[in-house]
Amino acid sequence: MSGKNQPISGNDLARFSGPGSFMRLPYANDLSDLDVAVLGVPMDIGTSWRSGTRFGPKQVRAESAMIRPYNMGTGAAPFDSLQVADIGDLAINTFSLADSLKIIEASYNQILQYDVIPMGIGGDHSITLPILRAMHEKHGPLALVHVDAHADVNDEMFGERETHGTVFRRAYEEGLLIPEKVYQVGLRGSGYTAEDFTEAQGWGFQHFPAHELWHRSLSTLGGEIRRDIGADTPIYVSYDIDSLDPAYAPGTGTPEIGGLTTPQALELIRELKGLKIVGCDLVEVSPPYDTTGNTALTGANILFELLCVLPGVAYR
Ligand code: MN
Ligand code: MN
Repeated sequence: MSGKNQPISGNDLARFSGPGSFMRLPYANDLSDLDVAVLGVPMDIGTSWRSGTRFGPKQVRAESAMIRPYNMGTGAAPFDSLQVADIGDLAINTFSLADSLKIIEASYNQILQYDVIPMGIGGDHSITLPILRAMHEKHGPLALVHVDAHADVNDEMFGERETHGTVFRRAYEEGLLIPEKVYQVGLRGSGYTAEDFTEAQGWGFQHFPAHELWHRSLSTLGGEIRRDIGADTPIYVSYDIDSLDPAYAPGTGTPEIGGLTTPQALELIRELKGLKIVGCDLVEVSPPYDTTGNTALTGANILFELLCVLPGVAYR
């Protein structure tokens, strides 16, 4: 064995018992030895339609108890080479969105004092703006793979400039991103004006609407994105579960029909291997809207697949 933290095996302790951490990994308070820190951001006060993502981290972790440490599809064995731990949940202020976003940014600034890759479990998508501010503080402008039904580039919602639908306009305005290396994949649904879907392309963002991806493998697109970004550019991956069709992921706040399939999600992520991924998140899982747990199970597996393409992952 590598001597690294390992998820508790389902052959040693029944899957339905033990710690409630991600993949039943050890919890850690000290980040100094970690390569990857998994954390929850349990929040839903940035949403515009259905709430419930405050329960996302808890259920994603619960469903992650099913996942075994070796990736049969790709050969990745992340726990052979990376020290991974769950560092718990951020203590957000559930009565104040503005305060919560400040807490998230300050917490990420603390986390990023260490040489660690944060994997955030949302929470609604508004968590990603303060995360990107902290990531930019450490790494400079970032490439971004943003998988989502929505571009999240509204200017404001009810006069509010920081919500789950305004994240990437603010990130663009604040210079957090490399605009021509922003890839928004899975966009679809209805809008208010035609510009809802085109304005961000004028900034340099690259759009890949869902209808252009229907019935296609995403391996080709993933490979093109990988080559376009290049191996040395810091990249953040923000994965909104509503990028998937509601048939696969109904437990989310703003579902849109005609979405990506689960195999397409895996194809896309698996092509990101070899990139300088410096952080990622999985957002918008809303457990009350999926009593089967399948959405959280899918979210947990997306996080595992992301873990499997991080820099330094071992293969068998
Ligand atoms: Mn989103
Ligand atoms: Mn969305």
